[in-house]
Amino acid sequence: MAEKYFVECDCGKRVRVELYEAGTEKACHSCHKSVMVPDTITLQESSGDKYPMMRPIEKIRRTLELGEPPFDGLCHHCEDADATFAVPITLSVLIERHMDHDGGIRPTLNGGVKLVAAAAEEFWQETAFPLLLCQKCHSEFQSAQAAASMKRKLGLVGLVGLLIAFLVFAYFNAELVALFAGIFWLIGAFAWAARFRDTKKIEPYIVAWLNDIRWVPETLALEDEYHLTVESSKKF
Ligand SMILES: [Zn+2]
Ligand SMILES: [Zn+2]
Repeated sequence: MAEKYFVECDCGKRVRVELYEAGTEKACHSCHKSVMVPDTITLQESSGDKYPMMRPIEKIRRTLELGEPPFDGLCHHCEDADATFAVPITLSVLIERHMDHDGGIRPTLNGGVKLVAAAAEEFWQETAFPLLLCQKCHSEFQSAQAAASMKRKLGLVGLVGLLIAFLVFAYFNAELVALFAGIFWLIGAFAWAARFRDTKKIEPYIVAWLNDIRWVPETLALEDEYHLTVESSKKF
């Protein structure tokens, strides 16, 4: 992700500037007064991290609590206008997992064996933060959300179609069915098993939007196991 530069306007808002705009004047998106963009070195220094020693997720918590950038009200997507919508995001990160026992095959009293599931105690940490969007970016977000839900529905329709095709096929070619059933069962079993390896539960469309928030991409890259919930957006 390209580094972003901001100057603070007299009205208290951050104004996004580019490195090549150093030494020029730029109009504030909020009060429309012009702000002076300093030289490139000052710009680069000012983009520095206030909390270099913290874990990215702690930086999110701290800046949100203090209302500091990136949670100072600027749209996360275009960073060129004040946000008017907030999409509540909850990120649950696995902090610790204690294994009580590993599970496996155990002998029983009557000389048989039984399979024991592994038992674990888990500690999850929830961090709630908003995805802030201006009017224009919010409509873009809503269409992305609608497209993602359409894609999910089409996927389901496709699966049902495949099942119907298979049933029709089975009706006319009974002798091949046993073979196909075996293959389908194997594929299904692998897909089922794969679910348990999927430790980062996140919908693909939301990733691009969350990448706009400073430290969120770093958090998602750093944590091993997490899941994420997205609630419907609120106007403020
Ligand atoms: Zn201003
Ligand atoms: Zn925007």
